[in-house]
Amino acid sequence: MDGEGSAAGVGALLAAALRVYERSYGGEAQVAVCAPGRVNLIGEHTDYNQGLVLPMALPLVTVIVGSSTSGQSCSVETITDSADEPRRVDFDLPTESSPLTRGRPAWANYVKGVVQHYRAQPLPAFKAVIASSVPLGGGLSSSASLEVAVYTFLQQLCPDDGDKVAKAVACQQAEHTHAGVPCGIMDQFVSVLGKEGHALLIDCRSLEATPVPLADPALVILITNSNVRHSLTGSEYPSRRKQCENAAAILGKSSLRDATMQNLEDAKDRMDSVTYQRAHHVIEEIARTAQAADALKRGAYAEFGRLMVESHNSLRDLYEVSCPELDVLVAAAMEVDGVFGSRMTGGGFGGCTVTLLQADATERTIKHIQEKYSGRPTFYITTPSEGARVLSGMKS
Ligand code: ADP
Ligand code: MG
Repeated sequence: MDGEGSAAGVGALLAAALRVYERSYGGEAQVAVCAPGRVNLIGEHTDYNQGLVLPMALPLVTVIVGSSTSGQSCSVETITDSADEPRRVDFDLPTESSPLTRGRPAWANYVKGVVQHYRAQPLPAFKAVIASSVPLGGGLSSSASLEVAVYTFLQQLCPDDGDKVAKAVACQQAEHTHAGVPCGIMDQFVSVLGKEGHALLIDCRSLEATPVPLADPALVILITNSNVRHSLTGSEYPSRRKQCENAAAILGKSSLRDATMQNLEDAKDRMDSVTYQRAHHVIEEIARTAQAADALKRGAYAEFGRLMVESHNSLRDLYEVSCPELDVLVAAAMEVDGVFGSRMTGGGFGGCTVTLLQADATERTIKHIQEKYSGRPTFYITTPSEGARVLSGMKS
């Protein structure tokens, strides 16, 4: 990781979590697991349209340590600062007649949701500590990494059938029902199935994943966190989803994945201009993602970079989910010699950009962005990492 970023390595996170575990609960944790955040290289706002996405798992992770315990009462503590809320929560295991429901603190809903959607029984009660190096709310999917880490933790206490796709779907369900975010499958999927040295081309309709090698030492994937988050009404994401569903319905398709630009042009008179724009982005973005994966396989980095910039411009102009800070970060990166491409990544309205560049251009790119961006960016130099895993060296 780059010195600019404040991300702790897995070992340091684990040590911190174990210390808190011992202080809070006494004794040693039996189990330690981690699950990564992710960055999406291209294919934004396409997952809930049954489209293609090309993310990679990050070296930034959520670690959970813990043990099973007798009785029905679970205790979970997070080390991560989470919006002035209590960091510890206690709840009873769910039963048929009293399922776990949403409540306070808000962060615990991600944990409870996964417990509720876990795919094996009987789950024992547990006590656990959470530590994370994924920035919260930064668009690198701390939420999915938390869900997948919880699921992976539960697998150690009460093994399920090991079906990884079903695991990702259960975590997505948790986010829908307990966090109230109608997210697509991408984040949970790559946090479960990420592969070191590879990006993952995910077909969100068939749930098929194709690893695409991305381990060229001459390349760097730089993430720049704008450290801004514009809290609009909170309804922007659901409203984009609705607009896409409307567009698909007008086109007579079950999703925009099945639509072509020709279909859209033919139906232009039957929809308002905003609906047209949203569908325009999604249809082209799905095609761009397929092209980008192909370019990456061929090592055609300049082509990949061009597609990243096209994606950004489309998110800015057609999907309208960028913001001035992200636009400045992308523009600044693109001014540097050796940068192939840059774009906003994640849901938008703040959060991060992702930039593909020659490794030898890293220092000057960071310096140039710092000069051009009036805020305080955080940089992460990242490599495609492994999905959720059990951390070795623990007693079980
Ligand atoms: P993103 O997934 O892009 O980071 P979200 O808004 O989807 O942003 O999820 C962020 C939320 O997830 C936080 O506000 C918090 O409720 C929860 N969360 C994620 N990681 C942790 C953690 N380590 N400890 C407590 N809460 C966490
Ligand atoms: Mg999230």
